[in-house]
Amino acid sequence: MRYRGARHLPEWLEQGAAVLRDNRKDDLTDTFQTINKPICIEVGCGRGGFIRQMAKLWPDMMFIGIDKVPAVIAKAAATSVEQGLTNVLFIIGDIEDIAPKLDKHRVQQIFLNFSDPWPKARHANRRLTAHKKLDIYAHLLSEDGVLEQKTDNQVFFEWSVESIADAGWSLVRVERGFSAMDIEADDAGAGRMEANGTGTVGMISSQFVQTEYEQKFRAQGIPIHYLCARPPKA
Ligand code: SAH
Repeated sequence: MRYRGARHLPEWLEQGAAVLRDNRKDDLTDTFQTINKPICIEVGCGRGGFIRQMAKLWPDMMFIGIDKVPAVIAKAAATSVEQGLTNVLFIIGDIEDIAPKLDKHRVQQIFLNFSDPWPKARHANRRLTAHKKLDIYAHLLSEDGVLEQKTDNQVFFEWSVESIADAGWSLVRVERGFSAMDIEADDAGAGRMEANGTGTVGMISSQFVQTEYEQKFRAQGIPIHYLCARPPKA
C-alpha cells in the first residue's frame, strides 16, 4: 500500500509503541506468551480500521494485525492507542517470518482482506492464498479455526477458491457479491452465527466490518466476494 504519511513514521512509532512490535527487532515469542485471550489475525491489515472495529465488537478476543509496510501499520497502532484499545496488537513484518514464532494451533481466525492479487502468473506464489501460505495458516489455526477472505478482485477470488480446495481445505461458505452487514456490539453474539452460516457458537465473521479498501469499493458499487474455509484435519 502506498502511503504518503511516511514522514510521520517516528511520531506514530512512539505513539503506538504499547501495541506495536517489529519482527526484525522485538522478541515476538515473548510477546505472544503474554497474550491470554483467543487470537484472531489479519494478514495485511494496512491502516488497521478493520482490526479496531473488530476489537470493539469482540473485546474478549485479541486481534493481531500484521503488515510489512511500517508507515501504514505504525499509524494503525498510534490510532488504536489514541482510542484506548488494549485487545489489539500490530506487528511489522511478513507473515512468513512471523508465523514460526507463534505457537501452533493457537489462532481462532485468520482474515485476508483485499490482499494484493499479484495478477501475473509468475507471481502466483506470492498470493496470500497460495499453497505455501495456506500451510502456514493451517499450522496456526486451532482445531475449529477458520480462514476468511474478502476481495473485490474476481479473478483472484476464483483462483483462491481453487487453491484452497486443492490444498484439501473445506470451503464452508463462498459468496460472490455479498451485501454489507452492520451489527452493534450487543448483537455480535447472535449475528455472527447467522452470517458465517456454520452455526458454530462463538464464531466471528469479517462480513460485519468493512475495511478501508472495502468502503472505497462499495462506494463505487464494486461487488465484494467472500469465502470462509476450514483447514484439513491435522
Ligand atoms: N486489509 C486492508 C489493506 C489491504 S492492502 C484493507 O482491506 O483495507 C494489502 C496489504 O497487505 C498491504 O498493506 C500490504 O503491505 C500487506 N501485505 C501483503 N503481503 C503481505 C505479507 N506477506 N505479510 C504481511 N503483510 C502483507
